[in-house]
Amino acid sequence: MAASGATGPARVIDGVAAAREVYARLRERVAALGRVKIRPALTAVLVGDNPVSRIYLRNKTRACAEAGVRSEVLELPAGCPAQTLRATLAKLNADPGVHGILVQLPLPQPLDASLVAQSVAPAKDVDGLTWHNLGALMVGQPLFEPCTPRGVMALLERAGVEIDARQAVVVGRSVIVGKPMALMLMARGATVTICHSRTRDLAAHTRRADILVVAAGRAGLVTGNMVKPGAAVIDVGINRLPGGKLAGDVDFASVRPVAGCITPVPGGVGPMTIAMVIANTVLAAERSLTPGAA
Ligand code: NAD
Repeated sequence: MAASGATGPARVIDGVAAAREVYARLRERVAALGRVKIRPALTAVLVGDNPVSRIYLRNKTRACAEAGVRSEVLELPAGCPAQTLRATLAKLNADPGVHGILVQLPLPQPLDASLVAQSVAPAKDVDGLTWHNLGALMVGQPLFEPCTPRGVMALLERAGVEIDARQAVVVGRSVIVGKPMALMLMARGATVTICHSRTRDLAAHTRRADILVVAAGRAGLVTGNMVKPGAAVIDVGINRLPGGKLAGDVDFASVRPVAGCITPVPGGVGPMTIAMVIANTVLAAERSLTPGAA
């Protein structure tokens, strides 16, 4: 897709349809694993009782069912000591019937995500967030890539967006989205700029982007006058507005007339993030057939 000279409103990239296609392909791989008596299995660990985390987990459980992946949720109480979580993860690491492990974030205080990042076995880290797997991504040898940026890459590919030699701008520098996103775009040949809360004149950067990925957690941060005509605009943000409605970081109404393609919120990156967790679980199960090959 060209990054300039767009006419008319942007094409809307349908993340729900993209995820459905992923599940259809995964079902075939799950069936092939079934023929050698393996059923891919994902265990999610929930610490505490965060209602939003419960919604995310319910969606992941549904997605597992759609792909034919077995799933279970292990619950630990909010006040559980770090040692209990560590021991739970060690048990799952050693269980050959568990192919993928994910710990639903955020963790209640005083637990923190770095404990998880060092306790989940890299070969079962389907979120791609252990330090081992983030380091592997950094040196260009990814084992499991973080699911949200991986979902973004899949959406760009599906939309036919050229990445090689293009200008990409990523807004946000978090470990789960912004940083790995920048690495993945760079690995595909893009020239990448990372913007964050300390960036001066954000618009001057975003206006140069052929590919603009926004993951700031600020509703409506990017408006139409900040976007290059024809750009691919990927909105990672999920913000709950005062009335309860969900909104992205991109002001869809003003950006759509300018961009070449755009993801909606909801129905864009979110469904693909979940699909990538399930895809990584199937991949982990396939790799379990050839231990040591990963
Ligand atoms: P985070 O809070 O860890 O990071 C936000 C980043 O945005 C920071 O690096 C910060 O420097 C930057 N930022 C904040 N305000 C900014 C501003 N005004 N200008 C430029 N940069 C700014 O958040 P996160 O975990 O990376 O998530 C970002 C958003 O994406 C959130 O809305 C989150 O809910 C959403 N999210 C969605 C998915 C999905 O599947 N769709 C997955 C993960 C996160």
